[in-house]
Amino acid sequence: MLLDTTLRDGEQAPGVSLSADEKVDIARALDSAAVPFVEAGSACTGAGERDAISRVADLGLDATVTSFARGVRADVDLALDCGVDGVNLVVPASDRHVERKVGTDHDSVLETTVELVEYARDHGLWVEVLGEDGSRADLDFLDRLAAAAHDAGADRFCYCDTVGYGSPEHTARVVSRLAEHGPTSTHVHDDLGFAMTNVHASLRAGADLVHATVNGVGERAGNVALEEVAVALSHCYDVDCANLDELYSLAQTVARATGTPLPPNKAVVGENAFAHESGIHTDGTLKDEAMYEPYPPELVGRERRLVLGKHAGRAGVRAALDEHGVDVSDEELAQVVDRVKGLAERGKRVTDADLLTVAEDVQGRSRERRVRLVDLQATSGGGVPTASVRLAVDDEERVAAGTGNGPVDAAVEAVRTALGPDAAFQLESYHVDAISGGTDAVVTVEVELSREDRSVSVAASDADITRASVVAMVDALDRLRAPTAVADTPPTAD
Ligand SMILES: [Zn+2]
Repeated sequence: MLLDTTLRDGEQAPGVSLSADEKVDIARALDSAAVPFVEAGSACTGAGERDAISRVADLGLDATVTSFARGVRADVDLALDCGVDGVNLVVPASDRHVERKVGTDHDSVLETTVELVEYARDHGLWVEVLGEDGSRADLDFLDRLAAAAHDAGADRFCYCDTVGYGSPEHTARVVSRLAEHGPTSTHVHDDLGFAMTNVHASLRAGADLVHATVNGVGERAGNVALEEVAVALSHCYDVDCANLDELYSLAQTVARATGTPLPPNKAVVGENAFAHESGIHTDGTLKDEAMYEPYPPELVGRERRLVLGKHAGRAGVRAALDEHGVDVSDEELAQVVDRVKGLAERGKRVTDADLLTVAEDVQGRSRERRVRLVDLQATSGGGVPTASVRLAVDDEERVAAGTGNGPVDAAVEAVRTALGPDAAFQLESYHVDAISGGTDAVVTVEVELSREDRSVSVAASDADITRASVVAMVDALDRLRAPTAVADTPPTAD
């Protein structure tokens, strides 16, 4: 089973602060993914946090909604005020925490724990006791603490590797002792890169509830990543602990809300997790999808991507052209592959538009542009960001204005208005890269737009980010407007 603590421990990551609306969105997404426990926050933090926790508690989720509470009665009362189902009651376990942080002794910690567990239970709460810094605690004391918590009626006791300190062997030794007393959870951090391994060690040693955060967000090196635990348990042990096909949208929701982009090489949810570039890998993947993948991307709500780069081969390029309805002869294909590699070797990311332009050139086709940017004006600073655009659409000129969060948003709104019903597209992704580091940097904006079952990626560079964004978007729309293979002059035969 999983307990998600993105909204509490994840939010403790430096620079992360979630609004109540964001917490509600994430909690809903966790519930859709069938995560059974959601720790919504820490009620003692303040009125804003309590408002957010109450809103999550009122959503009527299937999940058990809990609040973190320090080992003081006032915290349990504040959690009760929020209407949660349970508390994650944290008490000091290591001597560092008992003596230096809280300034107390083992017996008093045991006494307070028993008293608070009984109090929380009497008020109808599900209770999990967390022994903070348990991985560095005296094992005999931790053992007594777990026993006392269970005797007092706690639903479970949690092994906490608060600073990501333990080896897998140490984790197994401690958890197996704790599990003798009753249901045991595990809460591990990734400071040594051992988070996943320590989850495995904990489960083997008798734990049955894993604390995790989406994308592994959290203090320092973060917590163990929820999506990785869910996929690994399903793939290797046939243990179902979440709706796997919801994991990717959950990861994106959390990445957006926390402002923490997903690393491209992140397991399960990274951009490259199911992308194949190398010619040999692409060719193998086209022959057998499982050739270079441990499990199919659809399992976690994703799609496989074949990326064109300097390792591009004939099979991959042909497949990419096929997707856009472009037929090429073997000779043409060889030329397209050479030129795609050439682009990539110059350090360029090869977009769909680049590929299609190369193919048009090789085949001697000229393409009539149907949507073109004629003029763009954008203002920000002071009032509401506003933009106006003039587009040439077929033979007609269209002018429109828009407002938005910023100039880019306003300009995109203006484009949508100018195009009217023609703007029925979906913005799949939007990336900005600064080519040089200074304030005079040229930026490259890459967008991917889709319409019905077609999608196209286009990049544009400019010193002005608004202009680069609009140019890329208009070019992508132009590509999407008509089937690409339809050309004014028929393709020259072989
Ligand atoms: Zn933690």
